[in-house]
Amino acid sequence: MAGIYIHVPFCRKACTYCNFHFSTNLDRKNEYLHSLLKEIELRKDFLNDNKIRSIYFGGGTPSVLSKGELLSIFERLSKYYDFNDLLEVSFEANPDDLTEDYIKDLGETPIDRLSIGIQSFNEKILQWMNRSHNSHQAVLAIENAQKYGFKKLTVDLIYGVPGRSLDQFREDLDRINKFGIHHFSAYALTVEPKTLLAHRIKKGIEKPPDETDTTEQFDFLMDYAQNHGYEHYEISNFAKPECRAVHNSSYWKGIPYLGLGPSAHSYDGQNRFWNISNNAIYHKKISNNELPHEMEELTLIDQFNEYIMTGLRLTEGISIEKALSIFPEAKKELLTTIEKMEKDGLLICLTTDNYQLTRSGKHLADYISAELMMIN
Ligand code: SF4
Repeated sequence: MAGIYIHVPFCRKACTYCNFHFSTNLDRKNEYLHSLLKEIELRKDFLNDNKIRSIYFGGGTPSVLSKGELLSIFERLSKYYDFNDLLEVSFEANPDDLTEDYIKDLGETPIDRLSIGIQSFNEKILQWMNRSHNSHQAVLAIENAQKYGFKKLTVDLIYGVPGRSLDQFREDLDRINKFGIHHFSAYALTVEPKTLLAHRIKKGIEKPPDETDTTEQFDFLMDYAQNHGYEHYEISNFAKPECRAVHNSSYWKGIPYLGLGPSAHSYDGQNRFWNISNNAIYHKKISNNELPHEMEELTLIDQFNEYIMTGLRLTEGISIEKALSIFPEAKKELLTTIEKMEKDGLLICLTTDNYQLTRSGKHLADYISAELMMIN
């Protein structure tokens, strides 16, 4: 069983903090769609298994696609893949696109889970981020999705925005909880290179995120989730029982997936592939029947490191036995570092074999992973 990711590389506006691959030139949408349908054909043999458990439309902004365009993608996929065991078809959408008519259209496709890029319900924060939607549209998008039968909803939030208070973040969480949303993702604002935000900070126009505020908001988030029945099952993801994301969980558990569209990544169980992050070159290569990707064969150390990095982010933690089955030579160093992290209160032993991040450890997840990883 495998997953399929489809990258839709267009956005109506550029958010100040974003470094994903997208273009605001929607004139190339037809060209993109044409190439995407052809890429599905060209890479039909990539996955060993044609049984698909999840499909995920990410971006960019998948909600720039019309119902007809989406149906043409499903139709092409169905020529090569078996959807009988499909557990989830997720679709990222911006609130300003989720009008009643558009949601009704989505209801006539196989999409059964909407991932709504709310980020915040606060008007000033949305303007600061240069989002294409406003607070009213954020509320309306959720109401429309619930009205037209989308039971599986997830919402994205961003915290740690400079100058914004804990109370404002609490209001965002309260809104989600009151709507009865079963899954949400919350990300700390990070300043990525080459973004408008990075440029403004460099010029002194904006302040960088305050680490103390971000830490305080993450602590608040963990308490809020626990007190309101959300399981903190991955460092940035929270779900009510039985509502974890199927597709994203596949990434964290090393299940193979095919990524289609510019900048999409794929994994076949042993190698990683990434498509070119340029819409025009992607189109040109596909038109010439060339695959638009590069490949990296994962060494045993790479596989060990990936297991540590993704496993630690999950509530299940890492299994020493599993880690050492990938790279047994790591034994002495791994056990010594784990012992030290345990003493420092950053890791906790769940069973004799399993280790999980403690609450303090969750604040330092990247550092702990780096300490446990091996050098190639
Ligand atoms: S809508 Fe999403 S992908 Fe597009 S610029 Fe904003 S954050 Fe980035």
